[in-house]
Amino acid sequence: MKCTVIGFWGGFPAEGGATSSYLFEKDNFSLLIDVGSGALSTVQKYKHVMDIDAVVLSHYHHDHIADIGVLQYAWLVHSYIREEKEILPIYGHKENKEKFEALSHECTEGIAYDPNSELKVGPFSISFLKTNHPVPCYGMRISDGEDVIVYTADTTYKEEWIDFAKDADLLITDCNFYEKQDGSAAGHMTSKEGATIASNANVGELLLSHLPQYGDTNDLVLEAEKYFSGKIQLAKTGLVWEKDSI
Ligand code: ZN
Repeated sequence: MKCTVIGFWGGFPAEGGATSSYLFEKDNFSLLIDVGSGALSTVQKYKHVMDIDAVVLSHYHHDHIADIGVLQYAWLVHSYIREEKEILPIYGHKENKEKFEALSHECTEGIAYDPNSELKVGPFSISFLKTNHPVPCYGMRISDGEDVIVYTADTTYKEEWIDFAKDADLLITDCNFYEKQDGSAAGHMTSKEGATIASNANVGELLLSHLPQYGDTNDLVLEAEKYFSGKIQLAKTGLVWEKDSI
């Protein structure tokens, strides 16, 4: 499978950027995981908005869903242009009724996933792990039958990540804090914590994401390298992961 980073900032996008959003592609199927602020503008560099086949959301914080409303408008406008109505499935959890119901619109349908079951979306199988975060949030283990990518979404460190991420080809971590900080009150991880999971889970590569807007983010890589000996990269817009390609 191919994974393209659309947005990677935590909290709010830096100028010209986007918050959490990742495009997963396989066999002509395009899945968008989270749709943060700036994601709709950015994703169009890589994909026509009507060629997105499904969306899966980790949780309902603004920096993961801010562009859902304009994505719904985009599909509505294109339904007029094309004179045919297509419905985009948007999968989310049901633990916030109001937010879940807002996923359904004229051209989108909110579909609840059961976090205790595997979700099949096109060629992808997704299993979930509830994270430690101020609101209900689910990390995902995404497989296409060949490669496995684990996305922590937003979370503090917890031991369960090690089993959940076991032997994944790529681990995308919440790295909103530097090593010396404590992100736990905010519900996020440090570079050290993400790298510790990567090492203990024996993943192939580590991608640090959900990045802070302050400090030198290259330091996050140097910090993570102390705890994980595999390949480590900082997320950036347009970064493509395919097995052995980065
Ligand atoms: Zn969050």
